[in-house]
Parts: sequence; structure tokens; C-alpha cells
Amino acid sequence: MATIEEVLAGLTKYHPSADTGLVMRAYELAAAKHEGQARASGEPYISHPLSVAMNVVELRLDDVSVAAALLHDVVEDTDIRLEELEAMFGKEVANLVDGVTKLSHLQFSSKEEMQAENFRKMMLAMSKDIRVVLVKLADRLHNMRTLGFKTGPSVERIARETMEIYAPLANRLGIYSVKSDLEDLAFRYLEPVAWADLTQKVERVRREHERFIELVKNMLGEELRAANIQGEIDGRMKHLVSIHRKMKAQNIPFEEVYDLVAFRALVDTVNECWHVLGVVHQLWKPIPGRFRDYIDLPKPNGYKSLHTAVMGPNGEPMEIQVRTWKMHEVAERGIAAHWSYKEGTKASAPEQERVRMLKELLDGIRELHKDSGDSKEFLASMKEDLFGDEVFVFTPKGDVKVFPRGATPLDFAYQIHSEVGNHCSGAKINGTMVPLSFPMHNGDIVQILTSANQKPSEDWLSLVHTGGAKAKIRSYLRHERREMSQEVGRAVLEKQLRRKGLSLKSLTKRGDLERVLTTLGIPNEEELLVRLGGGRLQPRDVLRAFMPELDEQTQPGEEPKDEGIFSELIRKITPGTSPGTVLVGGEGDIVTHFAHCCSPLPGDRIVGFVNRSRGISVHRATCPSVADVSRDRLVDVQWDKGTKGHRLVKIKVLCLDQAGMLAAMSNVFLRLGVNIVSANCQGNRDKGATNFFEVLVEDAEHLKRLQKALESTSGILSVERV
Ligand code: MN
Repeated sequence: MATIEEVLAGLTKYHPSADTGLVMRAYELAAAKHEGQARASGEPYISHPLSVAMNVVELRLDDVSVAAALLHDVVEDTDIRLEELEAMFGKEVANLVDGVTKLSHLQFSSKEEMQAENFRKMMLAMSKDIRVVLVKLADRLHNMRTLGFKTGPSVERIARETMEIYAPLANRLGIYSVKSDLEDLAFRYLEPVAWADLTQKVERVRREHERFIELVKNMLGEELRAANIQGEIDGRMKHLVSIHRKMKAQNIPFEEVYDLVAFRALVDTVNECWHVLGVVHQLWKPIPGRFRDYIDLPKPNGYKSLHTAVMGPNGEPMEIQVRTWKMHEVAERGIAAHWSYKEGTKASAPEQERVRMLKELLDGIRELHKDSGDSKEFLASMKEDLFGDEVFVFTPKGDVKVFPRGATPLDFAYQIHSEVGNHCSGAKINGTMVPLSFPMHNGDIVQILTSANQKPSEDWLSLVHTGGAKAKIRSYLRHERREMSQEVGRAVLEKQLRRKGLSLKSLTKRGDLERVLTTLGIPNEEELLVRLGGGRLQPRDVLRAFMPELDEQTQPGEEPKDEGIFSELIRKITPGTSPGTVLVGGEGDIVTHFAHCCSPLPGDRIVGFVNRSRGISVHRATCPSVADVSRDRLVDVQWDKGTKGHRLVKIKVLCLDQAGMLAAMSNVFLRLGVNIVSANCQGNRDKGATNFFEVLVEDAEHLKRLQKALESTSGILSVERV
């Protein structure tokens, strides 16, 4: 069991001016609070935080991280609250403990590869202070070392989580020492039989390989001294997992794995690295194709080294890595190396430090490999991982979901299932009700509320961020409009049939419907009604198909009265529906007609309501008849921007009853391009004249100009829209 004295000795060795008081106080509180608790091993609980602190010291992190490691379980497992920690140890320590506690709550529940990748990304994204992840790795390392004391199904879950989440995370952060240890420990519990077998075999050859290591060290050491290079040579058995993987990948037995040992030469400068490589290649025959230059082309996590493989003294292949001490530091401790306390430099704010360090790393690599596709890819993936425009959130069960930044609970609902989306009536984030437009943040736990009565509306399109959710809303709205068209189509057809003393039902019975569908080339009744309701098929054509003998006679319209001077201006135009100028719920394929009571003009504020027999009537929003209509019959309509129809409107003009008035008015109509459909002029007894005109104007704006022009004509008293 590690002791606090060992922790302090380790810390002050690389960080002489560390705040040992802080670390000591952290230890005392943890020891007092965990008093009486025991680990599965039977050891007092404090042995765990002490070991984690020791692991943190091995990564050579600062005093704050060591204090946080000692305290990492007190909020979770004792009665200490986070606020108390902050009061006693400061914000930095409290934030680290809080971060580690939060990461401990994440449980990896899905076996899917994607889930694992999301999880790793999420952990990085969530940890504003990368030291949180480092302390968490130190925690996991000790838990894995003591996993043998645990029993039950949690053992396999923890081991798998370690293999799929924590080891790759350590690798991503470049901390090879922790990565390899975690992998070997997880391997032991995931494949106990293979592990035991391999361990035995490695033990059997260990003595022999240790002699071999000594031989190689002596041979190379002598050559380096002769070349006047100061360096250290290191040889070790490879990790079990890498031997196991090699056997599986090449499908070979243990006996055929030759390079069980890896050698490392550590020197001061890059030049010396190349010098050592030369010496090695002089001494032993290099194996073609095995040389790698990771100094010029570092690995994505910053790893630098020269790798080569040669035919060794016994004619066996062996691997040698050559690097500087500084590169070695990064190789072993990765991102942790950047967190080392450096005497004489003041540590900057954690977030700034992390950004600066990454920027440095990225800049260095960008500089080295301006044209390399690899580095571009690396930059992209690094950016995605650490500064990504992605948000990681949780279902209440703890599954991770990834969204583009700015995505809302509605996106979340649609990602679960379109039905959940369509009936989404509200959302809770971290237990609090939020509007559906609320942007989600990293680590949020999102809960969706549904209601059978809820359905998507047009404005939902502006609440979602993902293409998938948009497509699903659009599809729903399209379907809904189709149903509405069908209903309208049925009503229109029934009405027309009723006039002839028929009904759709009777026609269907007689088999006439089938015949009509064939005649018109329409696949089924539903489609017939949809086309009718959508205005793509006229009721007249359907009737004709039903009863060719009853070919409808066109009713002659009422001839306009010949008013002499107006006759040449008056055109006979059928007022009414002009498809495509009004959008119902954003679409233009629904039958609408303009109410005669208020004759809406493009530009007027309008509303529509469903009229069982005639489709949708469009009224001006100010029309008194709208007030009487029940709310559920109202539909959202708007003018289709860009289309300018000629719309019929009635105006009343009061003028003096004098010669030339009609000529003056007709000039105004001509000048403004207004067609007159009908006119009714009569003199009054009091010498005034009242004129009613039905005119065709483009829109409300056009009408306004007409009114102004008429009003400014001398002799005209007033102009109003009827
Ligand atoms: Mn722990």
C-alpha cells in the first residue's frame, strides 16, 4: 500500500516547491472521511486514493492534480459536498474532483463501435480541464490492478470498458505507459484462458530473453562508446496484448513470434538519433521495409521516434526504437508531459494551457508537413475531437447521442424515432422543463415528453438543426396536406353529385367509380379525391366521366351593362380561384377560393377556413365573418410571394355629378392598368353621383395607388373599398 510520505516524496522530487500543505490536508480529509470503509480487497479504502495519487505522481502532474486524486471519491462516497471542498481546497481542486465524479457516472452500455467512439469523444469534449481525464485514467488504472478482488458480471463490464474506452483514450492522449498497462489488465479479464496460456509461455522464455537483452545492450553500448555517443539502452519483453494481437493477426503460434523483445536507445539530440541508427545498421543487417521515421512524420498524438528492425546477434529479427529523452517523455506520458510542473514557470489557466499546447502541437506538425495528406487528415480529426462542432448528450438511460452544435430537444426526439418526434410535446434537460427551441449542451441528460394530441407544424422546421428531423417533419406535413386535400376533394365531389341526385356511395356500388378511374387514368379513389381537392382535377371532368350524357351546359354569365364610355375597358373575366396564389400551410396545391364578402387582395392579411362543401375560403383577416368561425376550422394561409394575379375588388366612388367625370375616371383606370369588370353609375338627387366599380387589381398596393389617384382627381369626393 502506497503511503502519503511516498506520494509527497515523489511529488517534491520533480516539483520541489509543490504545495505539500495542500496535498497533506487533502490526504487528512480523505483519510478521515473514508474511515471505516473498505475496498473489495479488504484493505482500508484510503489505499485506493493513495494509489491513484501515486499514479498521478508517476505521470508527474502538479500538486493540484495530486490533491484532487486523493479527494476524488469523497464527494461520491462520503457526506462531503462539493461546496465544502471548494471552500477548503479552492476552485481548481473542486472542479477536478467534480469532473472525475461526473466521468465516473458515465456508463458504457452499448457494444457498438460507434457508441465507444462517441463516448471517447464525449469524454474529451466534456473535460474542459484535461487533468480530469488524467486523474480518471489514474483511477481506472488502480481499479484494474485490483479488479481480481471483485466478482460477478461487473468484472467483465469494467474490463470491456477499459479495453474499449479507457485504453484507446490513453492512446489518443499519447500516454503509452498507461495505455499498455490498461490493455494487459483488461486482456487478463476478457480472455482469461488465452491470458493464462500466454503468461506461462512468456515466463518460460523470460530467462533466456533476459540473457539476450544483456547481450544486445553490451554489444550496442560498446559501439556507442566507440562513436562517442552518450546514450542509454533499454530492452524489455513486449506487452502481452501486443504479442497476442500479433499471433492472431498472422495466425501463428507463440513459438513463431520472434520479436518478443523491443529495444530502445535514448540520446540527447535528433542528430544523435540518426547517428545511433547508423551504428545499429552497421552492427546488424537491417530488414528492408521496416524502417519508420516518426521524427519527420510524428504520429497523430505527437509521438516521435525512429523505428527499425534488424537481424540480431542470433540471426533473429529484433526491433529497435531510437529517440531523444524529450521524445521519450512525450511517448510515455503524452499529453501529461505538457502538464508537468516546470520549475520557474508559472502554470497558466488550465483551459488556456490546453489550447496553447494543442495549438503548438498542431502548428509544429503543420509546419513539418505542409503538403502531407496525413497531417491534413490528422488536423481534421483532431479538430473534430477537441474543438468539434458537436454536442454529446445522454438519454435518461445513459446512451450517448451526438448532434451538431445548436441542435435542440426536437432533433433529439426525432433521432429516437419519428413517432417520438411527431408527438413531442415538451422536453426536460437535466430535469428542468425547457422550450423545444433550447440548444442542448455537452453532457446534458435529455428527456422527451410526448402527447398523443401533439403534431408537427410548419414552424417546427425552424426549431430543428438536423437534416433528418427536417425531412421527417416535411414528410409529416406533406402527408397531412394530402389528407386535407382528400377531405376537400370528397366534399366538392359529393356536392356536385348531390345536385344531380347522386352520391359517391351509390356510384361506387354500381361500379361506376371503377369505370371513371379507368377513363381518367387515375389509380384509385383516394388519388381521385386528392387531385380534386388539390385543384389538379376539375369536378366537371369527373362528372362528365360519370355521366357523359349529362354534359354540363355552361351557364352564360351576366352581361355587363353597356355604360358607353366604359364598354371598351370592361373585360369579361371569371373571378374566383386562381391556383397557386395562396399557400395553405406553405403549399399551393389545395383548392382555395376568395370570399366574396371581403375580396382579399395579395398583400392583405388573410386567413382561411375549411368549408366542408367548397374547400378553403380565404378571407381578409379583418373580415367580420371570420370572428364567427370556430378556431379549429381556421387554417394558416399566406400569399404566394411572386405571383401577382388579377384579383376582383369592388370600390365605391362618390363624385360630383358633372360632365367629364366618367372620362376623368377612365383615364385614371387606363393609366394604372386597371381593368374594369363591371360598373354601375347613378346620379343622386343632391347633385352627387355614386359609382360602383368591380375592377381587377394586382394586389393591395395596386389598389392603394388606384385609390390615391382617384382621390386626387378633381370632382371626386371619396373612394372606398367595399
Ligand atoms: Mn476511485
